[in-house]
Amino acid sequence: MTQQWLEGHRARKRFGQNFLHDHHWIERIARSIDPKPGDALIEIGPGQAALTREVIALAGKETAVEIDRDLAAFLRTQFPDGSLELIEADALTLDWAGIKPGERLRIFGNLPYNISSPILFALLPAAGRVIDQHFMLQREVVDRMIAGPGSKTYGRLSVMLQRRYVMHKLFDVPPGAFTPAPKVTSSIVRMVPRPVESLAPVNEEVFGELVAAAFQQRRKTMRNAISAFLTEEGIRAAGIDPTARAETLAVEDFIALANAAAAARATAE
Ligand code: SAM
Repeated sequence: MTQQWLEGHRARKRFGQNFLHDHHWIERIARSIDPKPGDALIEIGPGQAALTREVIALAGKETAVEIDRDLAAFLRTQFPDGSLELIEADALTLDWAGIKPGERLRIFGNLPYNISSPILFALLPAAGRVIDQHFMLQREVVDRMIAGPGSKTYGRLSVMLQRRYVMHKLFDVPPGAFTPAPKVTSSIVRMVPRPVESLAPVNEEVFGELVAAAFQQRRKTMRNAISAFLTEEGIRAAGIDPTARAETLAVEDFIALANAAAAARATAE
């Protein structure tokens, strides 16, 4: 695939622009996504179409969401055969439910690193209609996503995403694969939503709030960190040691706590 560049475009820091230019890596990433004709492929942040061209070559078409007006204008000139459906929008505020209703989505992208966690959170409510997600992120963020209890990097992102997805880090990509080169190493992560039937029921809102509170100050015991949600007895009744710290608890423990907190809230009302 021949890369075409938008003449004179200066990478915009505010949009987290680091463009892939190394064909070896572009191909390897596209192969790991494994796009097929007929897939409902959605790319976040196509930029100058490095991955876009490769994916369209394999699958025939895709849809992409790009926020940068200049890049969007450039992209419109690059696929005159209509193989790229471009949505000029902010992936953070996009109505994901309105994208290809009725189809199961395969979402991918080399995400802007400055807003990668908010994008992952914005996609959570759409997980029920997603087949898989492949993202390039800062390696440190991928490490946090897949970390288990007891690890230093285990935190809110790990718990919130692991409840909903099975995630695997596929491989690292060095800074030299991009223009401009970022300061950090990147990694590719595969995220496959767990089947809805397999999810333990939980009040999503209370779960999200409780997990955020639990990790706000990592050194606090659960008794102190989630006192707004449950009493010490309530925590114990949910099967959790009130003197435990959030970083030692499994995803299932947070689900048990959130269910107890939701029940306590309902009785208080
Ligand atoms: N995919 C291209 C590549 O690999 O060379 C560009 C990747 S660059 C790291 C991130 C891309 O996301 C840029 O094109 C940037 O303009 C776009 N972007 C940044 N914030 C965005 C947002 N909120 N919604 C949609 N696209 C965004």
